[in-house]
Amino acid sequence: MKPKAVKGMNDILPDVSATWQYLEYVVRDIAQSYGYAEIRLPLLEQTELFKRSIGEVTDIVEKEMYTFDDRGGESLTLRPEATAGMVRAGITNGLLHNQRHKLWTAGPMFRREKPQRGRYRQFHQFDVEALGFAGPDVDAELIIMSARLWQRLGIDRLALEINSLGTPDARATYRDALVEYLSSVKSQLDQDSIRRLEQNPLRILDSKNPEMRGIVEAAPVMLDFLDVESAEHFAELKALLDSARIDYSINPRLVRGLDYYNRTVFEWTTDALGSQGAVCSGGRYDGLVEKLGGRATPAVGWAMGMERLVDLYEACGGKSPSISADAYIVAVGDGALEQAFAVAEALRDGIHGIRIEVNLGGGSFKSQMKRADKSEAEYALILGEQELAEKRVGLKPLRSGDDQTSIAQDELVETLAKMLGRSE
Ligand code: ATP
Ligand code: MG
Repeated sequence: MKPKAVKGMNDILPDVSATWQYLEYVVRDIAQSYGYAEIRLPLLEQTELFKRSIGEVTDIVEKEMYTFDDRGGESLTLRPEATAGMVRAGITNGLLHNQRHKLWTAGPMFRREKPQRGRYRQFHQFDVEALGFAGPDVDAELIIMSARLWQRLGIDRLALEINSLGTPDARATYRDALVEYLSSVKSQLDQDSIRRLEQNPLRILDSKNPEMRGIVEAAPVMLDFLDVESAEHFAELKALLDSARIDYSINPRLVRGLDYYNRTVFEWTTDALGSQGAVCSGGRYDGLVEKLGGRATPAVGWAMGMERLVDLYEACGGKSPSISADAYIVAVGDGALEQAFAVAEALRDGIHGIRIEVNLGGGSFKSQMKRADKSEAEYALILGEQELAEKRVGLKPLRSGDDQTSIAQDELVETLAKMLGRSE
């Protein structure tokens, strides 16, 4: 019986991994250009961490976590998101005492969701978090940074929605108003919502059930309940986005699926990927550090789904960079392989980043040329009897009808670099 992969957990094969590498490189490069430094975090954390941070009454904690008792009897969970671990690491390592940190991290996350396009059980996030920053300036900069990413990647099918959730106090007042309204239409609520009415009514606004849409749309909105300071914070954020010429719409029903947010929340969504349209989402979580046992520290961040980014990049016409060799060395005859290796290493020594594949496993000239063609290399470099004797290399363009030429081995690096457009 053939072994199967775990449902919802994908292999990322070589034909797409080049795109992944490219996008990972660009995202990292942009984050670092804004002063964010990498932090690498464990995949496993104590289960309690996620219960306390994400919230008990959330889809993730209620039904999506991969939780198990390790051999010592401790309950551990494969991380479903990165923020909790980031904050935990900040506390554990004493990074948060009168300090400010701009951090990024990336890697696999695990949620036992129903697998479908854009929704997997192991997926990958790129995550940025600013710890110790209270003002709307950092909220704006985080959004500007994401907008730069879309621009650099030629992605234009994204829309930005923002909202403010206010302070916990303001939210409590709003919560009462919301519960009052939802109770008045209780007979029309679905089961999930009825259950949440007591425990976490805001999450009803986040309901993915289309039958709940009408009820949700008629509900009171948080923005009408904002405290003065949060309203100012929100106004300043909008002004900064306006002057950076970033388009957004205000979605008063955007509450985000996790409990820890306050004030700013935002989401970049697309219509290009079917129903899994959220590509990058984030917000402020000023209360979380304290809740997890650290000294009160304001914080804000976003997370981006890499699978959705790859998909969207391709949907917007993005191409993956070529990973095929520039040249494929065909070597036939006594001592040919030794010279092939020497020529290949000399080319790799060069400063031009030339990618070389040497024919492995021998074979006739004809079969080696076939492999060269299949490799998608631009050129075949041919070492036959005559070339070996004369210390030359035959150079055959594989993607045009141009004739084969002969080049002295000691001129090969410069000549090939020039032909590939890699020399200054
Ligand atoms: P959704 O509304 O699609 O469930 P979410 O609100 O649960 O998303 P977050 O927890 O904010 O998502 O995670 C940030 C990003 O991670 C999302 O915007 C999305 O791009 C990606 N993401 C979340 N869950 C998955 C998943 N199961 N598979 C693939 N990507 C995901
Ligand atoms: Mg989700």
